[in-house]
Amino acid sequence: MEMVQDASYPSPEAAMSSLLPSSLSPDISFQEDVSLPLCPTMQQIPTPPPSETGSPQSPDDASGNTIVSISTTFHPASTIHPTRPDTIFLSSDSVFFYVQAAVVLAKSTNNWNGLLQPAAAPSTHPGPESLDGPKIIPCPEPAAVLNIVLHVAYGLSCASYKPTIDDLSAAVDAMATYGLPPKEHIAPSTPLYALILSQAPIKPIAAYALAAAHNLHSLAVPISSHLLSYPLQSLPEDLAEKIGPLYLKRLFFLHLGRLDALRRLLLPPPHPHPPTDQCGFADQKSLTRAWALASAYLAWDSRPDLPASAIEAAFLPLADRLPCQLCKQSLVDRVKQVIVQWSMVKRSI
Ligand SMILES: [Zn+2]
Repeated sequence: MEMVQDASYPSPEAAMSSLLPSSLSPDISFQEDVSLPLCPTMQQIPTPPPSETGSPQSPDDASGNTIVSISTTFHPASTIHPTRPDTIFLSSDSVFFYVQAAVVLAKSTNNWNGLLQPAAAPSTHPGPESLDGPKIIPCPEPAAVLNIVLHVAYGLSCASYKPTIDDLSAAVDAMATYGLPPKEHIAPSTPLYALILSQAPIKPIAAYALAAAHNLHSLAVPISSHLLSYPLQSLPEDLAEKIGPLYLKRLFFLHLGRLDALRRLLLPPPHPHPPTDQCGFADQKSLTRAWALASAYLAWDSRPDLPASAIEAAFLPLADRLPCQLCKQSLVDRVKQVIVQWSMVKRSI
């Protein structure tokens, strides 16, 4: 694929020939020591760029110099891999990522969606520069997304960039496109799994959709426990489509199953105590009736995430109207039992 030249940019080949001299030492500061004839000012910015630095699509600074944005992890002098970068991925927002083709090809099942050819990949051993120069591969993803995909390809954590759930979701989609099977790279012990799961308390439905869309069951299960208070009736259609029928059914059944379990838990009234002179079986029917009324009210208004405090608030005030101490104790014991049983009802798909 040929790169579309932007008149405001230097020739990437020319830039690369300056960036990657054969004598380039890994610890050289290319910002200061490498001159770029067509690129007077070169700015290395974090990836994704901090918002205060402005869009990397603005190639010119105030003095008219051209600014090139380069990944802070995947730059020409990076030490993340012993060999020199031989390939450049260019994000849709014009950030350069310097990578080793052999590394990304080794992880891809489809030659990086056909953008790279194994036969053309240079040796993984340090050696003379290829006469053809480094390849530049334009990618449709923005830097924030491409950055995550490349971290996965190199087995690195991108947690320090604090990616949003939207970027993580787009990155997992891109991983599938570039032949990095999400199931292999998002297992419970991987950095990306932990990163997505850490977003679940803040954006549970987006995290669930991400996991569901790629059939990542081990990730969808812990995320689903954060969705007990999610109003399923207002689930947007695009998210429902992304989640798909199987995981949508699992989510609905989680909610319905918990509501049904709660109704069943509330049904039996407190145990009657042996009749006494002050409180016979007939007297105890008032507690049974009060329990039935309170449980009907609670079941009518119940939610899958009903807190224990709501159960206590519905039943414990009944004790104030009971003249019998044994009836009061029976009520308190029954409420405790319901709360314990409710806490044991499954909280995830
Ligand atoms: Zn009693």
